[in-house]
Amino acid sequence: MKLLHSIHDFSISHPDTPAFISPNREINYKELWQQSEHVANWILTKRLPKDSAIMVYGHMEPEMIVSFLGCVKSGHPYIPIDTSIPLERIDRISKSSQSELMINVSGTPLEINLPSAKIVEFNQIVSANVEVDKVEATNWVSEDDNFYIIYTSGSTGNPKGVQISANNLQSFVNWMTEDFPINGQLCFLNQAPFSFDLSVMDLYPALATGGSIFAITKEMIARPKILFEALQKSKTQIWTSTPSFVQMCLMDPSFNDGLLPELTCFLFCGEILPVPISRQLLERFPNAKVFNTYGPTEATVAVTSVEITRDILNQYQSLPVGSPKKDTKLLLLDENGSETAEEEKGEIIIVGPSVSKGYLGESGLTEKVFFTRDGEMAYRTGDAGYMENNLLFYKGRMDFQIKLHGYRMELEEIEHHISESKYVKSAVIVPIYQNDKIEYLTAAIVPAKHEFEKEYQLTSAIKKELGEKLPAYMIPRKFIYQEELPMTPNGKIDRKHIKEKVLA
Ligand code: AMP
Repeated sequence: MKLLHSIHDFSISHPDTPAFISPNREINYKELWQQSEHVANWILTKRLPKDSAIMVYGHMEPEMIVSFLGCVKSGHPYIPIDTSIPLERIDRISKSSQSELMINVSGTPLEINLPSAKIVEFNQIVSANVEVDKVEATNWVSEDDNFYIIYTSGSTGNPKGVQISANNLQSFVNWMTEDFPINGQLCFLNQAPFSFDLSVMDLYPALATGGSIFAITKEMIARPKILFEALQKSKTQIWTSTPSFVQMCLMDPSFNDGLLPELTCFLFCGEILPVPISRQLLERFPNAKVFNTYGPTEATVAVTSVEITRDILNQYQSLPVGSPKKDTKLLLLDENGSETAEEEKGEIIIVGPSVSKGYLGESGLTEKVFFTRDGEMAYRTGDAGYMENNLLFYKGRMDFQIKLHGYRMELEEIEHHISESKYVKSAVIVPIYQNDKIEYLTAAIVPAKHEFEKEYQLTSAIKKELGEKLPAYMIPRKFIYQEELPMTPNGKIDRKHIKEKVLA
């Protein structure tokens, strides 16, 4: 695979260039290649079934990248699992993927027994006595083999594993390195945990071009002073984040080209990029370009892009998400499956080589949203949009999938888990918007019999239960209790009524 060959070439031509920098630790290209070679050799001794995926658990440690490359060099895809994922969800991922191995990079032992997977500490692998041979490229994942599997929220309560092949990823990396100002040996910022595919937007374009990745940890995000000190030292040139994250940074007036003098390019993906944020960025960073990109995990990070110039800002009230990469076609279909006319809204369908082959082990779910068209994979995004002047405009979701602070989730998955609580008879989750953006989630609950005197005690008991199943970002901020959930005249739950009640 071209990407892996490029990383190998850099490990020889630029051995000392830092590949990945996390607080107090960094790894250069030579170390990255050699250590991942050791991991790959060790995995090969385990003789795992062909194609079986390996879970890699940790946060922003350089060993995460070492393990990812170790997996793919030994012919196995990896499943990145961030430390923010609760144990019960890890158990579901483990069952769904039937993975036989988890590499724990976090340094803290995991208090969990996985049904079919053995957990191995990264350090055990390092100290294992393995013959370190060169791992031949014939062992590497290639072509249609899975490179990684990222689990996203699923409406039935189980997360679903999006399979991304070597070809899918190569198509994405080619686009990033050809169509964006990514011309080699630059410093990239990584904000997103590896279990979200936004992290792929910096990780592999950086490694494919001999660049360095500067990682931001969750501890830094929680403490802006430390974050800003780190940013100042980072020499970041390519910024990749959600719009929500940069919005948080913009609240500090010192977030400007004095702090990051070398920054030349902002890449955004994952949620709506608001006009005022883009405007402020162009003012505070006059030498940087701002790109809006769009795409789901199922089509490998992103498939459309547009540079947000001052002209575009003056022209549109909601920003376009751009035009498709050249190997990809977009279709906009109405309810009857016919293509819509220019400027008419339809469901966005993505057709091209970066579209996944589907959800791991879920043929039913896969058939619902994936199909082939003229021999290429196609994906029904569930997003609404329209084209104008060859630019795609995003017009929201057609179902209950949402984005909150950049995180993708299915409201139905949260409802499923809340309804399982012993304190809950029925529940519905309602997103509360401010200026077209979801600010927080509210749970409207009909409680079951309980022993608590006060509502806040009930709320904290439910939240505690939820915390064992869902990551913190999926737990509603506000809880309201009702004797019954309001219904619309046609018998559906009246979400609008609940919204009004919350805001009253
Ligand atoms: P994820 O799989 O986490 O990348 O989430 C994909 C979803 O995020 C898409 O299907 C869209 O609903 C939304 N999304 C991605 N990029 C954008 C964007 N630039 N503007 C608005 N929504 C976006």
